[in-house]
Amino acid sequence: MLLGCTIYTSGAPCPMCMSAIYWSRIGTVYYSCDWKATQEIGFDDVFQYDDFEKPPDRRSITLEQLLPELGATSYEAWANKPDRHPY
Ligand SMILES: [Zn+2]
Repeated sequence: MLLGCTIYTSGAPCPMCMSAIYWSRIGTVYYSCDWKATQEIGFDDVFQYDDFEKPPDRRSITLEQLLPELGATSYEAWANKPDRHPY
């Protein structure tokens, strides 16, 4: 965990990097080129940020719950794991 750390990057973080930043608990991101500049050189990730703002049933990727009882067994195993890493 990088709680409270700072990251410096040439470009604004794409959604994948931003997720890693959230997970690692980095507190500050300094970037040089914004999303528009990033888009202009061919890395068009802005649509993903736009998609996340929509309700799940209106996003470009189908997101549907399937077999919740089966998934709950792995969640239960994780919750009961004595040496699990806390998030
Ligand atoms: Zn990235």
